[in-house]
Amino acid sequence: MLPVVALVGRPNVGKSTLFNVLTRSRDALVHDLPGVTRDRHYGVCRLGATPFVVVDTGGFIENAEGLDSQTARQAQFAIDEADVVLFTVDARDGVLPTDRAILDRLRRSGKPMLLVVNKVDGLDENAVLAEFSALGIADTFLTSAAHSRGVTPLLATVQSLLPKVDADALAEGADDGIRVAIVGRPNAGKSTLVNRLLGEERVIASDVPGTTRDSIRIALERDGRRYTLIDTAGIRRRARIEDALEKFSVIKSLQSVEAAHVTVLMLDAREGVSEQDATLIGHVLESGRALVVAVNKWDGLDKYQREQCMTSLARKLDFAAWARQVYISALHGSGIAELMKAVNRAYASANHVFTSSELTRAVEQAYQAYQPPLVRGHTPKLKYAHPGGTNPPTIVIHGARTKHIAEGYRRYLENFFRKRYRLEGTPIQIVFRDGE
Ligand code: GDP
Ligand code: GDP
Repeated sequence: MLPVVALVGRPNVGKSTLFNVLTRSRDALVHDLPGVTRDRHYGVCRLGATPFVVVDTGGFIENAEGLDSQTARQAQFAIDEADVVLFTVDARDGVLPTDRAILDRLRRSGKPMLLVVNKVDGLDENAVLAEFSALGIADTFLTSAAHSRGVTPLLATVQSLLPKVDADALAEGADDGIRVAIVGRPNAGKSTLVNRLLGEERVIASDVPGTTRDSIRIALERDGRRYTLIDTAGIRRRARIEDALEKFSVIKSLQSVEAAHVTVLMLDAREGVSEQDATLIGHVLESGRALVVAVNKWDGLDKYQREQCMTSLARKLDFAAWARQVYISALHGSGIAELMKAVNRAYASANHVFTSSELTRAVEQAYQAYQPPLVRGHTPKLKYAHPGGTNPPTIVIHGARTKHIAEGYRRYLENFFRKRYRLEGTPIQIVFRDGE
């Protein structure tokens, strides 16, 4: 599971600015998709060697008095989950009493902590250091998040503090088959599905303890294929976890998605796509992972309701139309075979290996059938292509003036490749390069 880094500090010190710098995604693919609510408090930092989950604990302190308020508990939960805490302060304000109060709380958590003194732009750094040395934190970093300055050394130290990931557990050869994360809101039916899968196959459910925390992996064999179900909070520990907060933890969901080959997003057919679901899909898209949407509790709907549901889902999930929607009843077992087929298909698609020659031929054909429209007098040219990796399958296309290729044309190419290679359930990444 990915390690967790929490940003803590009073409002206005620059946490969300720093968060954005750390979580800026590899490509802008996801950010402006209509219909995807992106929860701007949770993200994955992929800037260094080890990716990690970043949590902006935002409203923590304002609510410090009423600790049972939802935001404050979310924040405390994030700190409890964190491997490293970045205690963030404002260089311009100097040390304030609130900073000391937060620091007290953080010290009690016993978590490894770095002090981030932000907004140092235009200030005398030695004076700033002198001021904040009063807090007595050994590891101090001066940053200007708004200008992305000072982030590199901070990141290097964060990485050095993160737990070493068990290389064996992550090794490509590790024989755990297709890793499947089942995510979704509480009561969508995730536990019922897991039990159904396990019950049907009479497998020995083996709990392989996760590397650091109590993450649970369940081995499953079905129709001669091996799978590992990656536990999300609440799936198997229902009895112990009655707290809705822990039953739906964005951190846990994010970690599961990142650790999986294929994510199954479970929806309750009667509830449709909620904001939480859209947020999760946003994270799945950003991670580039394969996705299958399981629409559960199909048994409870009449014909009219089913039609309504399908129409509404098609519209709401339009931005991830490549993800298969499977209608199931975890309770009665219908649609389960189809669901697992979709998982297999998504996995195979995500790992599809192209060859350069066939890709180049495909690009030539696509280009001939439909050329990119002229943009302000520029005609982009596409010349040849080669594979750029799997999971998601990536296609690198070389050409000229490719920066003038519009989003509509990129989508045309994506659909072309999708049809030609029959890729279903996975995003496809297309990278354009100019020149040789
Ligand atoms: P948060 O409440 O801690 O999340 O703080 P924000 O990230 O929303 O930042 C609060 C304000 O400080 C915004 O107006 C930012 O533009 C500004 N800010 C953030 N980082 C810097 C910085 O490095 N230098 C300066 N001068 N301003 C910054
Ligand atoms: P989780 O919180 O996502 O793990 O959800 P559960 O598996 O605990 O299911 C929540 C409730 O929905 C339970 O009462 C289940 O019996 C019920 N449920 C789950 N799957 C189905 C289904 O396919 N049809 C119907 N009618 N109820 C279901």
